[in-house]
Amino acid sequence: MKRKLEMLEQLQEIDSEIDSLKRNRNDLDKELDAITGNLVLAKNALAESENRLAELEQAKGELEKNLGMEHENIKRAETNMKEIKTNKEFQAVGREIAAARKQVAELEEEFLDRLSRIEEINAAIAKGNSDFVELEKNSAERRNQKEKELASISESINAGSERREVIVAQLSASIMKRYENLRAQRRGQALAVARDGYCLGCNMQLPPQLYNSLFRNDEMLLCPHCQRILILKQG
Ligand SMILES: [Zn+2]
Repeated sequence: MKRKLEMLEQLQEIDSEIDSLKRNRNDLDKELDAITGNLVLAKNALAESENRLAELEQAKGELEKNLGMEHENIKRAETNMKEIKTNKEFQAVGREIAAARKQVAELEEEFLDRLSRIEEINAAIAKGNSDFVELEKNSAERRNQKEKELASISESINAGSERREVIVAQLSASIMKRYENLRAQRRGQALAVARDGYCLGCNMQLPPQLYNSLFRNDEMLLCPHCQRILILKQG
């Protein structure tokens, strides 16, 4: 029984190590996802700016066209004016020209507004592009580093699993079943140290008779409070 308990203790140690390696692996997977996620976000933001720029360019083009038309209108009206005979007609064309000039002023204001927004967004895109290049470079370096760590963790997990198999092969199926069930129920810790009359798994006092039986080391004893397999450690 002493040998079996020692093997269970080794098993517990290996399993704890593997559990912790798997947690590290999960963390690294999440970090890799975050690196990819940040790149996607940056790329989407750039694409959005490009769309915005295209919209502004289109609006600017339309304004240019409208301005051209209004200038044409003014020119035509001014030509017409030379052939006007009556005062009434003169006033009508004068109003037409005034309205067209007002329209031109408004269109020019809008045009300048689009122009300055286009400049702003172009600057933002240029900065976004160079930031993205930098981000891609950093991301590749970080990804590389994380992937190396992942590879080394996988190696350690495999090595642990191999050591585990050697021990499991020497333990009976019923002991293994009990061990695995306890591990599942007790957050990965199927074994608990018994010391000075206490179970250190749940910090409860053990019945004195049970505690004394542990010294005989001839059977597998469970803590009556947390059901963990007890391993006696003195001193
Ligand atoms: Zn206990």
